[in-house]
Amino acid sequence: MPLLSVRDLHVRFPGRSTGLFHRKQTWLSAVDGLSFDIGRGEIFAVVGESGCGKTTLANTLAGLETPANGSLTFDGTPITAHDKSLRRRIQMIFQDPYESLPPSMTVAQIVAEPLVIHKLYPDSIARAACVKRALVDAGLNPPETVLNRRPHELSGGQRQRVVIASALVLEPELILADEPVSMLDVSIRAGILNLFDHLRTSRNLSILLITHDLSTAAHLADRVAVMYLGRFVELGPAQSVLQHPMHPYTQALCAAAPIPDPRRQPSRTVLQGEMPDAAHLPPGCRFHPRCPVAEARCATGDPAWVSRSNQHTTACFLASPTP
Ligand code: SF4
Repeated sequence: MPLLSVRDLHVRFPGRSTGLFHRKQTWLSAVDGLSFDIGRGEIFAVVGESGCGKTTLANTLAGLETPANGSLTFDGTPITAHDKSLRRRIQMIFQDPYESLPPSMTVAQIVAEPLVIHKLYPDSIARAACVKRALVDAGLNPPETVLNRRPHELSGGQRQRVVIASALVLEPELILADEPVSMLDVSIRAGILNLFDHLRTSRNLSILLITHDLSTAAHLADRVAVMYLGRFVELGPAQSVLQHPMHPYTQALCAAAPIPDPRRQPSRTVLQGEMPDAAHLPPGCRFHPRCPVAEARCATGDPAWVSRSNQHTTACFLASPTP
C-alpha cells in the first residue's frame, strides 16, 4: 500500500470577475486533476517552471490549501482538514530558511515549539532529549553548539538544518520539501541533499521534492513527475525521464539544464515563449502554443497517456509506446 495516494486532485483560485452588468466569476486552475502515489521511503520529485502549480500541490498536501475536488489518502486513511494526528505525520520544509525561523527565539525553542503545539513530551527533560535527537539527525552534531543560538548567529546551511530538525522532531513519515536548497549557496546544497537521502534510508522517510532544478531531482529522486499548467505531462523513474525524456516539454527542460551525465541523450529542443496564464488555458494540449513539433490535432485534442514498459508515461500525441 502506498503511503500517500492522490486521486483526481483539483485546486482552483478565484480570478478576476468579468462582465460589465452581470459580473461573472472566473477561476484559475492551479492543480488540475493530478493522480499519483508515493511509497514508503520513496523520493518523488515534481519539476517544472515557476507558476506550473507545484507549490500549490505541496501546500494542498500540507493542508494549507483546500482542494476543490479529489481525494487524499495517507497510510490507507482519508486525510481531512481537521485530522491533527494525520497532519502531524506530514511535515513541510519551506524554501527560505531566512524567513521561516523566528529571529527572537533560540534554536532549542524553535525546534521544541512543534512539540508544544501538538502537546507532545510535556516533561521538559524528555522534550529536550527529543530536540537534541532531531538536531543530531539534521546533521547539527553536537547539538549543544547551536542550542542557545538565534537564527542570525547561524550560517545558511545551519538554518536550513534547524528548519529540517523542526520538521523531524514530530517524527513525520512524509516530508514535503518545497525548493529546499534553492536559497542556499551552491557549496552547501549537496550537503543538504545528501541529508535528505540519508533520512530516507535511516528513517524510511518519504519525500515529495518540489524543484525547478533538474539536477537536484536527478541527484535525489527515485521518480520524477514533470508538471505543466496544473497537470503532469510525464512521469516515471528519474533516470528514464531525465535521460530519455519523451515529452517535448521535458526535452526542452533537459536541454536547458546542466545535468552532468555523459549517458544522457542530448536534446536540441528549445523552450520558447512564456507559460500561458492559468486563467486562460489553451485548448487541446496545453503545451501546443510553445511546442516546436506541434501538429494541427494538438490544438484541439487532449493527448492520452502513453506508457513505456518501465512505468515511464507521458501525455503526447507523438510519443510511441515501447513494446
Ligand atoms: Fe507537442 Fe502535440 Fe505532444 Fe502537445 S501533444 S507536446 S503539442 S506534439
